[in-house]
Amino acid sequence: MALRIGKIALTGFVAGALLSATALAAPQSKPNGPWITDSQNVSLAGLRSYEQLWHTLEQIERSAKGNVTLGSAPRVTNTGREIPVVTIGSGPRSIMIIAQQHGNEYVVSEAMVELVRSLSSNSKQARQIRDAVTLTVVPRVNVDGFDAIIEDADGNTPPWRQNYDPFCVTDECPAFYRQGRGYDINRYHSFLELFPETDPYVGGPNPVPESVAMRLLFDERQPSVVIDFHHQGSYVDAEGDLITGSTLWPNATAAAADLGVEDKFDPAVILAKKVVTVMALELDPYGYANLTLYPGTTTPGIARNAYGLLGAGSVLFEMRGGIGVKSNGYITKTAYNAAKSVVAAMADGSLYDADISVAENLPPRGPGISAPNEEEEGE
Ligand SMILES: [Zn+2]
Repeated sequence: MALRIGKIALTGFVAGALLSATALAAPQSKPNGPWITDSQNVSLAGLRSYEQLWHTLEQIERSAKGNVTLGSAPRVTNTGREIPVVTIGSGPRSIMIIAQQHGNEYVVSEAMVELVRSLSSNSKQARQIRDAVTLTVVPRVNVDGFDAIIEDADGNTPPWRQNYDPFCVTDECPAFYRQGRGYDINRYHSFLELFPETDPYVGGPNPVPESVAMRLLFDERQPSVVIDFHHQGSYVDAEGDLITGSTLWPNATAAAADLGVEDKFDPAVILAKKVVTVMALELDPYGYANLTLYPGTTTPGIARNAYGLLGAGSVLFEMRGGIGVKSNGYITKTAYNAAKSVVAAMADGSLYDADISVAENLPPRGPGISAPNEEEEGE
């Protein structure tokens, strides 16, 4: 722990990012605890627990010999857990990649660990990327919703979608809140410049520490590109082929007009489409990758929209999910390749020449083919 805190100081977090005393408490998870099975009885044994995730990232940091810096997000969760943040490279172009805002969408976090491992190496490509780019990776935002030792008001245990904040058990709970459990992190990203003094959902400070943490990181790192990785259910395209991933750029167009930020938002959308194009072209040669657009809503507090309203090329990437551990290798590989292709294209500059018509011509997502694991609420 002391090691981790020392590194936070080195990464230059803003004053508000300093850890509170509760952050120093020991992690609460047990590697062999109740996270082993989820509501589908899919084994999670192949996935890293909270402690194992930290342990793996610490190992990577040690063997990377200065190429990787591990720290904590500028807020802890409501159970006092720290959210791991990995920084790679020191180049002038900044990109931020986050995964697993929804605790029950977990395989993408493995892909982010592999991305960190790959870019920490001494290969020529990794070195060139680190010289050109500063990459911030948050492999698992919703650490509580994955495997904290907690129960909601109905006696459910994680993994689940929301964070853990079971203060409201009435019929008058806040928007995007699951009664007796917590908030949907991915509806509470603060998109106003005057953060955190005002928040459109609550008329006061943002109540979701995980969302606040991501916004503070965004403000600190000033990424020009943000990618947010999730899972969706199983869908097919018009030919009946399984869709492996769906993606979208910011579409909070009305909010951008209301806020008078079109001058930032419109170029952000163009850059986000370039990011989508790079991912689509990267995945195209893989037989198992079948990419479509995602039918995303215009809610401004969704990360894809919020960071677009703040001027970043902000992209959602939804992997197929809820299909058992046999497919986890494909999911991990696809998410890894998608993320790495964007980082590499940012490093060599080809991102900025990408043809956005490729993104715009992706097909829409087709119908679902099986009942999803939980309520399908989208990104
Ligand atoms: Zn999600």
